[in-house]
Amino acid sequence: MELERHEYDVVVVGAGGAGLRAAIEAHENGARTAVVCKSLLGKAHTVMAEGGIAAAMANLYPEDNWRVHFRDTMRGGKMLNHWRMAQLHAQEAPDRVRELEDWGALFDRTADGLISQRDFGGHRYARLAHVGDRTGLELIRTLQQRTVALGIDVYMECTVTRLMTDADGVTGAFGYWRESGRFVAWQAPSVVLATGGIGKSYKVTSNSWEYTGDGHSLALQAGATLVNMEFVQFHPTGMVWPPSVRGILVTESVRGDGGILKNSAGNRFMFDYIPDFFRKETAETEAEADRWYDDKKNNRRPPELLPRDEVARAINSEVKAGRGTPHGGVFLDIASRRSAEYIRKRLPSMYHQFKELAEVDITAEAMEVGPTCHYVMGGVEVEPDTEAARVPGLFAAGEVAGGMHGSNRLGGNSLSDLLVFGRRAGLAAAEHALKRIDRIALADDALADAARAALAPFDREGGENPYTVQHDLQQTMHDLVGIIRTAPEMEQALERIAALKERVANLSVEGHRQYNPGWHLALDLPHMLVVSECIARAALERQESRGGHTRDDFPATDADWARTNLICSQAPDGTVALTRQPLPQMPAELAEVFEEVSAP
Ligand code: FAD
Repeated sequence: MELERHEYDVVVVGAGGAGLRAAIEAHENGARTAVVCKSLLGKAHTVMAEGGIAAAMANLYPEDNWRVHFRDTMRGGKMLNHWRMAQLHAQEAPDRVRELEDWGALFDRTADGLISQRDFGGHRYARLAHVGDRTGLELIRTLQQRTVALGIDVYMECTVTRLMTDADGVTGAFGYWRESGRFVAWQAPSVVLATGGIGKSYKVTSNSWEYTGDGHSLALQAGATLVNMEFVQFHPTGMVWPPSVRGILVTESVRGDGGILKNSAGNRFMFDYIPDFFRKETAETEAEADRWYDDKKNNRRPPELLPRDEVARAINSEVKAGRGTPHGGVFLDIASRRSAEYIRKRLPSMYHQFKELAEVDITAEAMEVGPTCHYVMGGVEVEPDTEAARVPGLFAAGEVAGGMHGSNRLGGNSLSDLLVFGRRAGLAAAEHALKRIDRIALADDALADAARAALAPFDREGGENPYTVQHDLQQTMHDLVGIIRTAPEMEQALERIAALKERVANLSVEGHRQYNPGWHLALDLPHMLVVSECIARAALERQESRGGHTRDDFPATDADWARTNLICSQAPDGTVALTRQPLPQMPAELAEVFEEVSAP
């Protein structure tokens, strides 16, 4: 078998914010480090992040601090977050932002020359460090420049299809070059998964083609576990029209900067959907909500800025009740509330996105928006301080890791998560590697097996077309495991997923190995299916509604489930096994934060 081979201490799979931050840290701690990514460097999802990086820097509100950020994050996640991750995240995010600035990131400034911070849903204070609505671009540009300057090897347009292990843990990874189709293997005692999300398993999503849940599935296959996969975030505002752009994100900054949601009757309906849990901190009248933009200390925030799960469900209900827009969304109006100049300055990408893709001028007319599958809170179960998965030598950081965001992520908390835990994963991966480097080898039979599995779709004739199977899976997840869920629908989804698994085992592709997207999809599909199965199984098991998981048949939160995590692992026969595990208990001194930081 023709195989390109490389040897490193740490291999990072993924070149988004988490992957690049991990690689920098591993390198700076003496590890020979490589980054592998499916697309071109600079194209990871992180680059699309618009709103900003959440960090309690207290630049606008001196009363902000890590304890308030910790409390907001836990409340946003409906207390299912791993407390230790939420604590580390809140404590370390400000340093990670300042470090980014030291490395050359140019943030928007306040009048006093400090890093400016903007409002976002669920954050008590304006907390998101930002660069217009192109924060992810600046974050990636900065990390990428540093990665390249440090001389870290980057394998781009290269997809990892399998993790290699021995009895003691990770030994490396196997993959293929997308352009040539040739195989490549990296021997390394530490692998950091930073592969991002799973959105492509759904029909309507803000995620791009890369997000097929590879890291989740690779981890499971290698013997690691996934936590709370039922929690999928549907962002309330994706584009709904025209069909070719359905799902593309409309940043929450539109609402943070004054945009409001209206139904077809012109009603600002979010006032009808304020849950008791957030009532104390949410404005009761339009007048109070509008005053908040100029005087945050004496007014409560508008209901449009409730956490995403609340807003997405409200939009879903309005549309279902027949009060939607012509194309099945609701109206997001900033045109009637802010000047054209303000909109163009604060939201330049949104302005161009609507102008070019939908021929809508957002300075003059309302946008049509609706929920879109955006983010997965569930992910690889990791040890909070090191991001170590259950398999020695395997680490996970960023969206692929679970626990940090509980049942619902607050906007802006992902970019900070990538920096905080990317750094921690890189450090721990380097330390682990330096201890084990002399004792690993890649087994030839395992490499041959990985190659055989990758080529199997070429060997079958007359099998299924990968695109048809992908379409059917996306439809299944959209129809049966979407925003609102019921037991019979999820049981049906699991039956369909089982049938799709058989079809995936019979996929065939035509042509050759050089740049063959059909083949690439055939290799992504098993990941998409296993992730979908984890989501559906966990969602069926959790008989309550919480955060990104809403059960029509169990609409309330439940005290027992508030103490329970759901863990997916791979059973010996390759199926997904599900177990319940108690939620790690928060120490008393942290629990006190919830009394000390009361709502205004
Ligand atoms: P990603 O940036 O998703 O990168 C994943 C990497 O893994 C890519 O390089 C990919 O090529 C690689 N990869 C995947 N599979 C493989 C494989 N098998 N082999 C090799 N490489 C692989 N969050 C915020 O905090 N603030 C925001 O304002 C914000 N806005 C957003 C706007 C949009 C449109 C979207 C889609 C998301 C937004 N988010 C935001 C969420 C946030 O951007 C993502 O959660 C975050 O960037 C994920 O970063 P990551 O490093 O975990 O992975």
